[in-house]
Amino acid sequence: MKNLIVANWKCNPKTAKEAERLFRKIPFKKEVIICPPALYFHLGKKVVLGSQNCFLESGAYTGEVSPKMLKSLKIKYVILGHSERRTYFKETDELIKEKVKACLNEKLKVILCVGEKKGEKMINVLKKQLSSFKKGVFAVAYEPIWAIGTGQACDPEKAEKALSLIKKETGSRVLYGGSVNSKNFKDYLKVGFDGVLVGGASLKIEEFKKMI
Ligand code: PEP
Repeated sequence: MKNLIVANWKCNPKTAKEAERLFRKIPFKKEVIICPPALYFHLGKKVVLGSQNCFLESGAYTGEVSPKMLKSLKIKYVILGHSERRTYFKETDELIKEKVKACLNEKLKVILCVGEKKGEKMINVLKKQLSSFKKGVFAVAYEPIWAIGTGQACDPEKAEKALSLIKKETGSRVLYGGSVNSKNFKDYLKVGFDGVLVGGASLKIEEFKKMI
């Protein structure tokens, strides 16, 4: 199994022109999944695309995107449960569980994000977040919240403890995310992660290409 790189562009870049420019510079690889804002999907013609989020179904749900819509655009991957969704958009484990189910029903490949806040006990948080996902998700991304966008990546040995727990609980691929860059990403692969989820550094093309 080859290592994966999942790029989470979040709500970036600011314009379609910039997105187009960025897409153009990314070399195609099956294992490199780009998750841009949904408005930019149509610009990513030569990359493997993933969604940063998804709702449960089509219908009267203003502003949302459904699993069937993603499928109809041939978008196979979907990130669910990102900590920014949990924090800013108040997504609960219950809702995330429903979303995972809805996406699996459409045969989408779910990349489920889990991770603890500073001061929380990693084992307890992960067990709770994973309790309803024993099987079926394509990958679980361990993203300690305190490491996301802070430049303070988790110590690989410490992250390895989360990796073992997630593997034991789900049996799925495990990615590491949280301030990954071209200098530290190999440290996570060395301790056994199956790839990385990259936020900020995926928008810096030279940095991103080095990881690819
Ligand atoms: C993320 O968006 O999931 C993430 C890990 O961001 P960053 O790489 O910027 O910490």
